[in-house]
Amino acid sequence: MNRLTKRYNTIVVGVGGVGSATVYELAKRGKRVLGLERFDIPHDMGSSHGYTRIIRMPYYEHPSYVMLLKRSYELWRSIEQRAGEKLLHLTGSIDAGPADSWVFKGALQSALEYDLEHEVLTGRQINERFPGYKMPHETLGVFQPDGGFLVPERCIVSYVNAAIACGAEVHGRERVLDWEPLGSGVRVTTDRDVYEAESLVITAGAWNHSLLSILRGLLTPERQVLAWLQPTRPEYFAPTRFPVFNLLVDEGRYYGFPVFGVPGFKFGRYHHLEEAVDPETLDREPNLRDEQILREFAERYFPDGSGPTMSLKSCMFTNTPDGHFIIDKHPTYPQISFASPCSGHGFKFVSVLGEIMADLAERGETRHNIDLFKLERFTNTNGQHHPHLGDRGGHTAATTTAQPYASNTPHRLAAAAAPDAIRPFW
Ligand SMILES: Cc1cc2nc3c(=O)[nH]c(=O)nc-3n(C[C@H](O)[C@H](O)[C@H](O)COP(=O)(O)OP(=O)(O)OC[C@H]3O[C@@H](n4cnc5c(N)ncnc54)[C@H](O)[C@@H]3O)c2cc1C
Repeated sequence: MNRLTKRYNTIVVGVGGVGSATVYELAKRGKRVLGLERFDIPHDMGSSHGYTRIIRMPYYEHPSYVMLLKRSYELWRSIEQRAGEKLLHLTGSIDAGPADSWVFKGALQSALEYDLEHEVLTGRQINERFPGYKMPHETLGVFQPDGGFLVPERCIVSYVNAAIACGAEVHGRERVLDWEPLGSGVRVTTDRDVYEAESLVITAGAWNHSLLSILRGLLTPERQVLAWLQPTRPEYFAPTRFPVFNLLVDEGRYYGFPVFGVPGFKFGRYHHLEEAVDPETLDREPNLRDEQILREFAERYFPDGSGPTMSLKSCMFTNTPDGHFIIDKHPTYPQISFASPCSGHGFKFVSVLGEIMADLAERGETRHNIDLFKLERFTNTNGQHHPHLGDRGGHTAATTTAQPYASNTPHRLAAAAAPDAIRPFW
């Protein structure tokens, strides 16, 4: 341990997606900032790896994400310019399902409410225009031209490079073990050193609840598997001819991308096999069952994209009870803020979340509307926090309240049954 404790304006725990953007945003504002990451930068142990992440505007999960997305696009373009590297690729997006499905209807509602350029296409029209697709004819989809994908590992590297250039300190392979309030500031203990700061931002992804006991019981890390299959008609799966998709079919809800980064058509199934996991012990090696489930989908809906397997990778969602993010200040220590934006759809927001988290660290408030994401929606009517929770996290790894993510779990029902609960989008 160093004899002189190092002091910062803000310490950011976790330099993955949101943490990297937050470190950059604070450094750009002239703050003395330290970013601490337990693994490499970037790495494939958390939620932000796998070469591509979808960005799409007509947000079927809830229309109030759309304003954040507008700012996200601006900020992605800005970091792209600074990095001198293409991070956001436009392909158009398709959100499709049966005519009465929440995916199709929600996307259409968002597109209409925010006056987004879009077209409603039948399954047949989708197949004609984008020949890699073989949609059932009864499918309806919203095609939106601003959709596309981000390159997550390069986004993180770009933010960290830019942050360091602005004076930030960033340490890889340094794990935060604990934090404690220190007057109006904080003291942070890692496996290498002790630091102090005026404010602390916790963006530890699937490990957030190991550092914040107020989140225990609310976050469920879940194993996901992605497949890349070699197309037999590669020309159909080029970024110029294949929009990213979110698709609700009999087998579940799936998402997919054109060929990029790996010589394969990439796709995955939301909530894959519904396996709640502890991130410390997660089996990261995909297996034959994972592959089979995914291959069956491709053979039915994207038959020209279902050639030999090129790659399989696992990753983690961090589910909240209603599927919406949790972004807030600590109820007892306002110098501490945190973001848990996963539930499988957070990367596209990383750029704007960097701005939001920097606002919370610097001023305790943000001009962005984050009401939908407040922790208090999960607290009881007396304003008390989740009953079994203390005020802060300890250094021991979370014992996850691992529950299978089936639709009848108490976890989901509790959120849905709360009188003024925000509508879950699962
Ligand atoms: C398979 C898959 C597909 C997805 N597809 C999409 C998509 O198409 N579009 C989309 O928008 N979103 C998508 N998502 C969701 C999106 O990727 C996540 O919401 C986002 O990456 C979460 O970012 P994060 O910063 O919260 O987590 P991470 O990027 O995982 O960052 C958390 C970081 O904290 C570090 N950390 C944890 N504990 C400590 C500690 N004690 N000390 C120091 N560091 C610590 C971790 O190592 C990690 O680097 C997908 C997710 C998965 C898993």
